[in-house]
Amino acid sequence: MPFSVPDHSTADDPRLLAQVEQAIASGVRRLRFDSELEHRYEADTHQQRLQFLTTIGIIGGLVYNVFMLSDWLTLHDMFAYVALGRVCLITPMIIGLLVLLQRLKSRWALETVAATGTVLSSLMPLVVMIYSDSPYRMHFQLGMVLIMVYCTMIQQMPLRYAAWAMLCMVVIQLVTTYLAHFADFIIWQSNALLFVSTAALLVMATYFMERGKRFSYLFSLRGRLLQKQLMSLARTDSLTQLFNRRYQGEVLMHVWEQAQAAPTPVATILLDIDHFKAYNDSYGHLQGDACLKRLSEAVQQTAEDAGALAFRFGGEEILLLLVDADASQARVLAEALQAAVAALQMPHPALGEGARVTISLGIAAATAPQISADALIGSADSALYAAKHAGRDCLRFARPEAVGA
Ligand code: GH3
Ligand code: MG
Ligand code: MG
Repeated sequence: MPFSVPDHSTADDPRLLAQVEQAIASGVRRLRFDSELEHRYEADTHQQRLQFLTTIGIIGGLVYNVFMLSDWLTLHDMFAYVALGRVCLITPMIIGLLVLLQRLKSRWALETVAATGTVLSSLMPLVVMIYSDSPYRMHFQLGMVLIMVYCTMIQQMPLRYAAWAMLCMVVIQLVTTYLAHFADFIIWQSNALLFVSTAALLVMATYFMERGKRFSYLFSLRGRLLQKQLMSLARTDSLTQLFNRRYQGEVLMHVWEQAQAAPTPVATILLDIDHFKAYNDSYGHLQGDACLKRLSEAVQQTAEDAGALAFRFGGEEILLLLVDADASQARVLAEALQAAVAALQMPHPALGEGARVTISLGIAAATAPQISADALIGSADSALYAAKHAGRDCLRFARPEAVGA
């Protein structure tokens, strides 16, 4: 049965959470996070952005060709050229850029390619318009407003890219209408004013939109981090930092549920510190806590290396769970645990000079779901008692009949 040790790596989270809080407090006015958070923002939103740009790129390309109707109505004399340009030049270019987008890894390249495609799409019809004698050219070139709206409101370019695209489009607009000798200079000027102010308003809107997007990213990241923190707190024992009894119940339920479909060998080890009451009595409870913490740390590390989970079962008792493992693997882990505790060399003065803190271990292995989790732990507990009776600082296996073997 595939069972992986859950990922509880929350080591970087407090720092990240602090960065997120700071970014929220700053108001995101600069539209830029600190470099680490910025990288994460780009990476987290890259796939979604790519999908979005691809979808609206396809829709934009189709609508772009529908505008041949406007070419036909207002630019009759040049219709063949504009139509040819739209179908044979710009459409293949859009398709090529959409294919290219899929290969791009950096956000910078993604946005640049998308913005460039839109700017180039706006260039062709206006260049053709220069050569038209249609009296409706004035109306035709207003189509540029739509491409500007598409670039900012639909493609939702980040501010820097939108500003560049708007600048290019305004220049294209002003140059082509100038070359086309629009009615008179006053009309050209008012046309220019219209486009410059439209571009300015769209850039402003882009700023607010990007700020909103960044805020919503920050709030959602903060939510995820806080939830992870909360989950981790709910699963962790505050003194030992081992998993707590509540999480033990969840994991066992999960393992036994999965085992309904595919019977799974499971092993448990119940570990208890020897003469710990005497340790407390001689050193005091605070020192007892410190000893328990150190020992738990070593147990946790050893368990992790063996792919086992360690739970604080009771006062100074720790339960280890090995899924997809048999008694011999459990023995290897139990011996590694004994060695890890011995390596700590923690003195136990109540037991005499030179005495060290030791542990006793009870091991039980069986196949789930043939035996219940409670029964398996009960067997490990009996084995632990046997270890205590045998003089402590040793390990014992549950009797085979006790675990239904
Ligand atoms: P044995 O070798 O038979 O296990 O002897 P023991 O004295 O360790 O007996 P037992 O396992 O029953 O020990 C329980 C003692 O562990 C009681 C209490 O003094 C101590 N203990 C349990 N939880 C904590 C804790 O969180 N902090 C401290 N300092 N001591 C604890
Ligand atoms: Mg004990
Ligand atoms: Mg105990």
